[in-house]
Amino acid sequence: MEWNRSETIGLASTKCVHCHGLGLREARGRMVPCACVFRSIFRACYARFRKCVEQEKRYSRVSLEYSPGGGRRVTWGMKNEEYIADFFLVSRRHLTPEEWRLFRYHFLLGADARLCVKKLNIDRGQFFHAVYRIEAKLGKVFRELQPYSLYPLDEYFHGRTENPWRSMDSEDTPPPAAGKRPAPVRKVA
Ligand SMILES: [Zn+2]
Repeated sequence: MEWNRSETIGLASTKCVHCHGLGLREARGRMVPCACVFRSIFRACYARFRKCVEQEKRYSRVSLEYSPGGGRRVTWGMKNEEYIADFFLVSRRHLTPEEWRLFRYHFLLGADARLCVKKLNIDRGQFFHAVYRIEAKLGKVFRELQPYSLYPLDEYFHGRTENPWRSMDSEDTPPPAAGKRPAPVRKVA
């Protein structure tokens, strides 16, 4: 995918010494996204993951999705559960076994730096370097993943619908007006 300044500038850290808040830096003669942009994407995805996990404890949400292409396909998606699974599986697939161990302890099980350095037998510097590297690596993967990226989150939760299943609605039923989502149906847990 092509990265441009309008995409990176809103995600970059204003304190970043590499890109000075622009989100792009030069590498081998061309402009590439700065790691601070990828870390920002990771953190947004991780915050959503934690929120989904919290919500899942209380209820399961079933949302009706309409095809943005104007088709009449409708799918029932348990978006929170799907997102939790995607976040977990994509992370596991793209991390090395060592990175995955740290990711599991720190990001999934909530172990802090003190516990992680003890459990993984590394020092604090190595721990924070690894966390930075994992955040940047996964942020890039989450944004560039094909055919559907995990980020932007709005698109993940409301914009994508490719499903071979035939419509559940009848041919006479018009799709909802653009920008209007059907009310979610809550299943009592
Ligand atoms: Zn930067």
